[in-house]
Amino acid sequence: MNKKTNDAVIVGGGVIGAFTAYYLLEKGWHVTIVDKGRFGSGSSEGNCGLVLPNYILPVNMPGTLLKAFKWMFTNNAPLYVKPRFNLDLIQWLFNFSRKCTMKAALSAARGRHVLLQRSFELFLSIMEKEKLQCNWDVCGSLHVYRTKKEWEAYREVVILLRDFGIPVEPLDHDALARFEPGLSPDLYGGWLSRQTAHLWPEKLMDGMYRLLTGRGVTVMENSEVMRFQSVNGRVVAVETGEKTIPGAEIVIAAGAWTPMLAKQLGCTVPIQPGKGYSITTGKLDAAPSVPCFFDEKSVVATPWPDGFRLGGTMEFSGYDDTLNQKRLTALSTAAVQYIKGSGIGDIEKEWCGLRPMTYDGLPIIDRSPLLENVTIAAGHNMLGLSMGPGTGQLVAEMLNGEPPHIDPKPYALKRFSQNVNTT
Ligand SMILES: Cc1cc2nc3c(=O)[nH]c(=O)nc-3n(C[C@H](O)[C@H](O)[C@H](O)COP(=O)(O)OP(=O)(O)OC[C@H]3O[C@@H](n4cnc5c(N)ncnc54)[C@H](O)[C@@H]3O)c2cc1C
Repeated sequence: MNKKTNDAVIVGGGVIGAFTAYYLLEKGWHVTIVDKGRFGSGSSEGNCGLVLPNYILPVNMPGTLLKAFKWMFTNNAPLYVKPRFNLDLIQWLFNFSRKCTMKAALSAARGRHVLLQRSFELFLSIMEKEKLQCNWDVCGSLHVYRTKKEWEAYREVVILLRDFGIPVEPLDHDALARFEPGLSPDLYGGWLSRQTAHLWPEKLMDGMYRLLTGRGVTVMENSEVMRFQSVNGRVVAVETGEKTIPGAEIVIAAGAWTPMLAKQLGCTVPIQPGKGYSITTGKLDAAPSVPCFFDEKSVVATPWPDGFRLGGTMEFSGYDDTLNQKRLTALSTAAVQYIKGSGIGDIEKEWCGLRPMTYDGLPIIDRSPLLENVTIAAGHNMLGLSMGPGTGQLVAEMLNGEPPHIDPKPYALKRFSQNVNTT
């Protein structure tokens, strides 16, 4: 491979772009990452930092629509669709509603399972090899409940997970109190997954920046890709306002913004931005020692040695990145019902980010159907961190023309033109 043919340009410096660069580098590519903002400042910044190989069930489950309908009448609900006329959103919601079946959910679960498991294995070896200082900890996670009804309801998920060989252990009130003394004594019980990990996302992205640039990756920040130059069915360069960056291969890893770029390339990518919020505090006096899902409130709590983060909510309000104080407050109001102590202390960071949501719960990792040297790696929903390394490796294999380490079919773009057959 000569220099002229192994220049790859990655549009988007989030966790997907970062791991794609990592594996391309391993295969001898020269990589440039172009980001319209700072590297790692998109959805990959203030997320909850959970690496969840077991989180195989998508949002589009039977029952989701009913729950969403009920939430429409609840103040500060964790799910919100801003009423407006937007054809892409209407189509997306329509397709999402059609995917809320057990058949479609299990089909998504199979695709998610493979990518999540593979990514977890890769995370273990990356952390071992690269020694990234990001508070990586494989200590499990808990789903905890205040009511017996909700604790029992989670059993249905546990049964589905068992069919995939994923063990989840029940903890009654006393067992939960023994396992996790930092939680409120008022809880009914919990469910424990041992094979999950967590890290501090900002530290991961800082570490990846240092690692990649240290090995020769060029990172161009504050450089928005506006256009593509193409010749004979190939993109030959990407254009920012100021620069033209040539590349033999182009990877679009622009998260929630991918549809706008893909459209320029003649490709429809059904991704909607799903806005989520987080608040970060210093270390709490009384807090759980493992990440906890407060499912009744759709809030996730992540503890680190020097900090604590609460995250959640899913707001379909377009590309609006303003902070809604009501939703931020809802996170802490919910959390105090689950953790010991009287409050969550001083907030050090308030954040929101746009998750790249597909309506079928699966990411898109595929070659563009129209331009032979363009690859799309986006739409990782609520699990882009957890799916990052597997995605990066798969893209690197596609660009190198190697047999893929996992079957890429579930992540193909083609599925969106086959809706009728896949529900
Ligand atoms: C509250 C919250 C909690 C979450 N918790 C978890 C979790 O615990 N575990 C987990 O696995 N996932 C979690 N997620 C989901 C995860 O954060 C996302 O799936 C993931 O960050 C997506 O990564 P990405 O690289 O695709 O997108 P991003 O990180 O958004 O990166 C895309 C990048 O593309 C750049 N870009 C866009 N357009 C252009 C352009 N025209 N030119 C140049 N650059 C461009 C953007 O600036 C951005 O930096 C959470 C998300 C939220 C909101």
